[in-house]
Amino acid sequence: MKALCKSYPETGLWLEDVIEPEVGPNDVLIRIIKTAICGTDLHIYNWDDWAKQTIPIPMVVGHEFVGKVDRIGADVDAISCGDVVSGEGHIVCGQCRNCRAGRRHLCAHTQGIGVHRQGAFAEFIAIPETNVWKHDPNVDIDVASFFDAYGNAAHTALSFDLLGEDILITGAGPIGCMATAICRYAGARNIVVTDINETRLEMALSMGATVALNAETMSIECVQMKLGMKEGFDVGLEMSGVGSAFQDMVRNMAHGGKIAMLGIPKSGIEIDWNLVVFNMLTIKGIYGREIYESWYKMTVMLEGGLDLTPVISQNLSIDNFEIGFEVMNSGKAGKVILNWDSM
Ligand code: NAD
Ligand code: ZN
Repeated sequence: MKALCKSYPETGLWLEDVIEPEVGPNDVLIRIIKTAICGTDLHIYNWDDWAKQTIPIPMVVGHEFVGKVDRIGADVDAISCGDVVSGEGHIVCGQCRNCRAGRRHLCAHTQGIGVHRQGAFAEFIAIPETNVWKHDPNVDIDVASFFDAYGNAAHTALSFDLLGEDILITGAGPIGCMATAICRYAGARNIVVTDINETRLEMALSMGATVALNAETMSIECVQMKLGMKEGFDVGLEMSGVGSAFQDMVRNMAHGGKIAMLGIPKSGIEIDWNLVVFNMLTIKGIYGREIYESWYKMTVMLEGGLDLTPVISQNLSIDNFEIGFEVMNSGKAGKVILNWDSM
């Protein structure tokens, strides 16, 4: 089968012929229809320090996908051939304390699809039945292709009560923009989104931001005043991974404010702990999705009319994957979808 691989320890990805995955008794073989590019794939494409330290070569990359079930293992019972499905990108061990207690998102030994084991940018992927999410027939097939990333946004945004609250989101990448739409859907009052990239700030406005502000030219304090806010933000969603953005957030939180941190910093960030202590802030780290509560809520929000399509910026054939990675690297993209149905 054809697959997009990290074949050499240098910048780039290569469309190669590889052996089809084996299907164990508990596995589901999925024929890929569409995949979406995640920031993680971009790190692997660019072969940065994180990728060099993490990715064994050769590796079929990618973990955001939608496809149709092609074959099932002998012990699979809840999934059938022909089902339209996506996959939870984190494969958990099933044995650690958290897994056994049903808190799978807190597994101590998570393996990433397309990171630690063969990924989804291929004609087929085989994953355990426990990682398969069967889609509601009304879910848009393009949106289904990036359910995994939508899940990051949902897990982060739904960590704290949003109804009537003032929300600060730092970073208007695809995940920050999806979180904006979720906060709007969930009844937040003011949703202030920061970035330093005008294209992305426009995307945040189209997804329901009250104000999208360029952190290089305007302060959050100034926007608070303009909105008539007096005591700071109730909830902060850090979605940039940038130290100064996090520091701006900590400074602008209300007493008792709650921060959910998804952004992955490239290096250490200094925190003014006096602000955390005296303002009694809660900071929660977020990794992946809540398996499968995030997926359930995501489906229900779409059913209720949440529209994520404005975040899609490109819909390309897999043959044009280079264009997709180029536009991702330019910072001008939202979600870039790669179609496999021509294969
Ligand atoms: P992205 O890189 O597309 O978006 C980050 C945005 O932050 C960019 O638009 C960038 O312009 C903006 N930014 C840069 N400097 C800023 C500043 N000073 N203030 C405000 N914004 C600034 O990333 P994404 O795909 O939307 O993901 C968001 C973050 O979440 C990334 O850090 C990513 O690595 C991380 N992530 C974490 C998990 C997890 O499980 N914890 C999963 C997926 C992604
Ligand atoms: Zn575990």
